[in-house]
Amino acid sequence: MASTNPETLALHAGWRRDPATHAVAVPIYQTTSYQFDDAQDASDLFALKKLGNIYTRIMNPTTDALEQRIAALEGGAAALAVASGQAASAMALQNIARAGDNVVSSTDLYGGTWNLFANTLRDQGIEVRFVDPADPEAFRRATDAKTRAYYAETLPNPKLAVFPIAEVAAIGRELGIPLIMDNTAAPLLVRPFDHGAAVVVYSLTKYLGGHGTSIGGMIVDGGNFDWGAYPERQPLLNSPDPSYHGAVWSEAAKPLGPIAYILKARTTLLRDLGAALSPFNAFLIIQGVETLALRMRAHSDNAAAVATFLSARRDVTRVIHPSYQTGVAAERTKKYLTKGTGGLVGFELAASADAGRRFIDALKMFYHVANIGDARSLAIHPASTTHSQLSEADQRATGVSPGYVRLSVGIEHIDDILADLTQALDAAG
Ligand code: PLP
Repeated sequence: MASTNPETLALHAGWRRDPATHAVAVPIYQTTSYQFDDAQDASDLFALKKLGNIYTRIMNPTTDALEQRIAALEGGAAALAVASGQAASAMALQNIARAGDNVVSSTDLYGGTWNLFANTLRDQGIEVRFVDPADPEAFRRATDAKTRAYYAETLPNPKLAVFPIAEVAAIGRELGIPLIMDNTAAPLLVRPFDHGAAVVVYSLTKYLGGHGTSIGGMIVDGGNFDWGAYPERQPLLNSPDPSYHGAVWSEAAKPLGPIAYILKARTTLLRDLGAALSPFNAFLIIQGVETLALRMRAHSDNAAAVATFLSARRDVTRVIHPSYQTGVAAERTKKYLTKGTGGLVGFELAASADAGRRFIDALKMFYHVANIGDARSLAIHPASTTHSQLSEADQRATGVSPGYVRLSVGIEHIDDILADLTQALDAAG
């Protein structure tokens, strides 16, 4: 695809027509396995001498179109779809870190990612060291010889302070450490590879799918990180892999392109852990991706209008939105969010946690759900729901105060959004 415009790529990248039927829309290949041409074809596919369909646990034609489309939108080399955003985050790290290694992560994380890092990965022997992203140098200070990756969210909710991608990516590149960015809240608004990140992960469940129908995840390889240049720092990509007849991934991938990282993730982790995306979900998520550019614009415009509206209300003590940041966070909004400020808005009510609950209960159009990025407007009280498994101190570290309410502003008409907020605020007061 010659175009680099996201509106066009979202409709055309990775697919022209079905080779068998000439269908224009990507069909659902609800299929598990694929007939080899002959014995040589089969052995070449297994030996990675060429890429092609073998078995849907590790690749599928519908999923492949989605992977190519998102890789193109992101400006990456290749992508791997998985069953959920959680699977994407876990596998993105497990692909390069094993027991005894560590990862340095921003504190500003989705609650589920926090749990994965603080508990499950720790139990697997991978230590995650949390640092405050306000100071990019904190990543360097937490690094030692066993650090394999840096990890952060582009536009982390609830704080909605943009992560210093270029600053931390540059530190990592000095040390041979890739920056992995969860870009779930900012697709098309920020392309982390343009700022030096090496890997992007997504929960497709949110804006990319966009319609609240399917759970899914994606790992995108920027193809911009020279894994082979850091044999000590990145042993899993530079030493023989006994699970694939001794392949050294930084070498084995060379004939196929700069895709060592994602090739290893597909052929070892997805093969072994089996968290594959279903082709049906890939199909539904493709429908969402096709209108992503329009929706991100509408989400950004509506959320900015909601932030302005909330800031004028006397019962709202604080508005949390990328354009209401101060100091260095405000500078980062300007530097990174040049195409829109996203669909998320937080606020605190003067009357605290109880008022927050009353507000949520009074909403009529907004849905009260544990999700973001739906075309519909959504609201939640994180302290009693998404972040309730964290201690109060950990909640505060991720930016959740007891009275915080999070809105994921949808693409309805702005008048209807503001009308629902007005009546719910009045009822809560
Ligand atoms: N990353 C972010 C920023 C999220 O908001 C979420 C889900 O809420 C996830 C990852 C996990 O994604 P999933 O729910 O698809 O597993």
